[in-house]
Amino acid sequence: MISSEDKVRFDPATSRSELKQTEGGSVFVSNYPPFSFWKEEEVDSALSALNTAPVADNTLGLYLHIPFCRKRCKFCYYLVHTDKNSEQIDSYLDVLAREVELYSELQSVQGRPLKFVYFGGGTPSYISVNHLEKLVTRLKAAISWEGAEEITFECEPGTLSQSKVEAIRQAGVTRLSLGIQNFDDDILQENGRAHLSKEIYKSLPWIEQVRFDQVNVDLIAGMVGETWATWKDNVKRVIELDPESVTIYQMELPFNTVYVKELRDGGSVHVADWQTKRDWQAYAFSELKSAGYEISSAYTMVKKDKECRFVYRDSVWQGTDVLGAGVASFGHINHVHMQNTASWSQYIETLKAGKLPLNRGYTTNANERLVREAILQMKLGRVSAAYFKQKFDTDIIQHFGQSYEKLRREGMLIFDRETVELTEKGLHQVDQLLPEFYSEAFRNSRYT
Ligand code: SF4
Repeated sequence: MISSEDKVRFDPATSRSELKQTEGGSVFVSNYPPFSFWKEEEVDSALSALNTAPVADNTLGLYLHIPFCRKRCKFCYYLVHTDKNSEQIDSYLDVLAREVELYSELQSVQGRPLKFVYFGGGTPSYISVNHLEKLVTRLKAAISWEGAEEITFECEPGTLSQSKVEAIRQAGVTRLSLGIQNFDDDILQENGRAHLSKEIYKSLPWIEQVRFDQVNVDLIAGMVGETWATWKDNVKRVIELDPESVTIYQMELPFNTVYVKELRDGGSVHVADWQTKRDWQAYAFSELKSAGYEISSAYTMVKKDKECRFVYRDSVWQGTDVLGAGVASFGHINHVHMQNTASWSQYIETLKAGKLPLNRGYTTNANERLVREAILQMKLGRVSAAYFKQKFDTDIIQHFGQSYEKLRREGMLIFDRETVELTEKGLHQVDQLLPEFYSEAFRNSRYT
């Protein structure tokens, strides 16, 4: 039994690999090859991929980055702005729409239907109803999302009002994702969250009233101050809310966070160790299972009796094309990874000059695409050999045989000729297992 006292002091002076030995690994893998290998010299390749007709049969989605938040959470490592006024937000949304308009004229995009749209951040729900309506009108005129299977919109409870929730639904959003993270006000405050529990409960009736196809709520296992008692209460409350989908991430402390800065300045921050966080996630999964949920991925449980697909996630993990619009956004078109500049002023000025604000890219080869999908799909808890045979003409059981065997011996997964299935132990530390599948050139390298 692990108690709340079993905590380790995070030491920012240790390297990532030492941290792994101490805590069992902490890399969150969202793409491959690692971002540190993407280069400015590849921007031309990205542009030429955008100006080429799409690869047959591949789908297309749109990711929109809204980089504003009311307050910076102390564990946040995203590019967010907490100081922009309404006029600056207006300018940003104007060029964001312009970026999508520019994309819509390119050969890789023209006439292609969108399978999904994802409003991420930052906090998309931070923007006003007027801003949202104006943005959506322009986006829809540039690129139709009539037939899209899913439109997701991330929300922070304290930024919502009844009229905003109605406007979000009116924009065509089908999947609303609510960043609750924790119900305990002391923990929310300690971790620098902008909202408190009363704002969560205030927003729920509005969300319920307008009826989204799917509501997802996010929790973080292991925020500073979390104990077994507070965590059990979080899980109980989330089950009471009865959402279609529950996503639980394990708390991380990357270097560019307020917490790490506090530590560097001589402060003290206590975060539960990785085993405790895994135990908390496993406990939540088990309680959710008893309440009628089933595993959808290493992070997400969904209602068993409803159709709860997550089109954005599954499409990305199957190599879909994605237009990444917004400052620092990531995209993938015709086998080329690309990312926009992270500079606010450069992003705005480049688009005002009528150019795409791309900053770096990476042209993937067939093996890298295979590895990318193989590792991302492991996060589903189950990988099908038939899928890879059909798409890549490769027997992945043979291709990754040694790695699968090594992980099987460690109790992380089981496999046969058709399927690889992660055990509960493997599922709750899946990100730590994935570097095993990297090509030699990308091992032991910086991820971002
Ligand atoms: S709400 Fe999300 S994006 Fe905004 S500061 Fe907090 S963690 Fe970062």
